[in-house]
Amino acid sequence: MIRNWLRNFMLGRYGPDYLGTVMFILSIALGVTGGILRFRPLTLLAYVVLIMTLYRMLSRNINRRRAENDRFISIFWPLKRRCKLFIERLKNRKIYKFFKCPACGNILRVPKHKGRVKITCPKCGERFERRT
Ligand SMILES: [Zn+2]
Repeated sequence: MIRNWLRNFMLGRYGPDYLGTVMFILSIALGVTGGILRFRPLTLLAYVVLIMTLYRMLSRNINRRRAENDRFISIFWPLKRRCKLFIERLKNRKIYKFFKCPACGNILRVPKHKGRVKITCPKCGERFERRT
C-alpha cells in the first residue's frame, strides 16, 4: 500500500543518484559536526544540503539532474583517486619511494634503500634511473 503510493509518487521523478548519495552523506556529516561543535551555521547548512538532496530526488527535470550528476562524477572521481593515491603514499612512505614517469606521468612505486635503480614504466615502457 505505502510501497504502491511511493512508486506512483516517484513516477516521472528523478530519484537517487551518485551525487544525491554524496550530498546525503555530506548533510549528515555536517549535521553531526555542527551538533558536536554546537555551531549553528553548520547545522543550518546541513539542512540546506538535505533539502537540496530531496529537491533533486523529487525533481521532474530528469535530463538536467542527470547532467549535474555526470558533471559531478567527472570532477569528483579524479579527485577521489588522487586522495587515495596520496593516502597510500603517506602510509607506505617508509617502505617505498614514489616516482613520476617522465614520459607519461604515471606514478611508480619503488622499494626504498636500493641505491640507484633502473625503472621501467609498466604503462608506457619508458626507462629511467633514480636513487631510492
Ligand atoms: Zn610512463
